[in-house]
Amino acid sequence: MSREGSLDAQRRRRLERFAAQFRVKPGSTVALAKDFDPSFKAGVKKKKEGVALLEEGVRLLAEYQARLAAQDTWGVLVVLQALDAAGKDGTIRHVMSGVNPQGVAVRSFKVPSAEELDHDYLWRYARRLPARGQIGIFNRSHYEEVLVVRVHPENLERQKLPRASKQGDVWKRRYREINDWERYLTDNGFRIVKLFLNISREEQRVRFLRRIDLPDHNWKFSEADVKERARWDDYQSAFSEALSHTSTKWAPWHVIPADRKWFARIGAAAVLVHTLMEIDPHFPPVTKRQRQALLEVKQSLEAQAPKGTAPDPFEQQHRDGKDGAADRSGEPVAGARGEEVDLSTAPSAP
Ligand code: ATP
Ligand code: MG
Repeated sequence: MSREGSLDAQRRRRLERFAAQFRVKPGSTVALAKDFDPSFKAGVKKKKEGVALLEEGVRLLAEYQARLAAQDTWGVLVVLQALDAAGKDGTIRHVMSGVNPQGVAVRSFKVPSAEELDHDYLWRYARRLPARGQIGIFNRSHYEEVLVVRVHPENLERQKLPRASKQGDVWKRRYREINDWERYLTDNGFRIVKLFLNISREEQRVRFLRRIDLPDHNWKFSEADVKERARWDDYQSAFSEALSHTSTKWAPWHVIPADRKWFARIGAAAVLVHTLMEIDPHFPPVTKRQRQALLEVKQSLEAQAPKGTAPDPFEQQHRDGKDGAADRSGEPVAGARGEEVDLSTAPSAP
């Protein structure tokens, strides 16, 4: 293996270890409060250290996303769930800050419309799935169907289900249906990255107060948020159940500690980058014939150069090393933006 190849393999293993700390083992029974600490920092001591790690994650994401789009074979669906004020929006904003907006589609799900209620419950989510080559983000998702709908059963009533569909254990059946749907998507080239931003009750209290105290943040606060907070324990158990039943081999859940915003962002970035590394998308190979055809076009373009100019200024710059640090082959280039910080070397938990 080349040196780059073994560095890549090393980086992948480290990232795997980092992301694995957040993963819900398929088949395990989760009790959120007991099993996951919202203030866990995975050995990253300071916010400053975290900022550098996030920069590295954002850079890697941009590179992988370009390859994902060029290959046009796989799609990625990021499922983002959280309680209010856990930082879904900020996480999306920061983690995706470096990627080409054309390759990303963010979909937010609110209370279903009349049209949506006239369909099966997965319909509205299926309509907003990413295409191949895209990263789709569900800001809230089909999991609301076993979370808010479970905590407030009047939502189920509004879904106009026939009586038989409301009998028996509706939630167990929905877990199975969701697992099957996600398996179908995975089997057909769509990888699913499920992130639960795990905030503590106390941190939520403080963030609500902040939204009230800072006038510019008032718009973010809604009285409905406080009503939902009153159902904290019910949400904790609905989440615990959902995580226990829907963390599968093909689409495992990751519980991202979210009491520190900066940590939630590197946690989310790490899991997403790791998935992209597993997909390992490549720019489409160029056949000998295509290459030959390109060279013929190149010759013809060079022949059109005005007198006194370089026939191919780009080639000249490239040769002189003035072409920026980006490697045109699309492979990640170590040190491309000065001092490189390796996300995958972040210390892992003891
Ligand atoms: P933010 O508050 O940051 O803007 P948000 O995701 O909380 O983002 P809101 O408009 O505040 O957006 O809330 C959306 C609401 O829609 C949530 O209370 C959520 O529980 C509710 N919701 C989402 N899906 C469903 C569903 N299938 N059935 C019923 N309610 C749903
Ligand atoms: Mg809200």
